[in-house]
Amino acid sequence: MSKIITIVLLVILGVYLFRRLAGQRGATSKPPENKAAEDMVRCKVCGVNLPRSEAVLSKGRFYCCDEHRRADS
Ligand SMILES: [Zn+2]
Repeated sequence: MSKIITIVLLVILGVYLFRRLAGQRGATSKPPENKAAEDMVRCKVCGVNLPRSEAVLSKGRFYCCDEHRRADS
């Protein structure tokens, strides 16, 4: 039984290390400043500014949430 736990722990550790390595590689090719300088978009309903990646896009318009997307359609 303890063997299985050891194997599971090793797998988790392996995945963790792999992700850390992949994350570091991603960080070198894309500096963290890029995230701060991410495009800001404005919600068409309430006018709040938010990062493009967090905005809801519909028919070329940005919204802060799905509720506002529906309210404008
Ligand atoms: Zn909104």
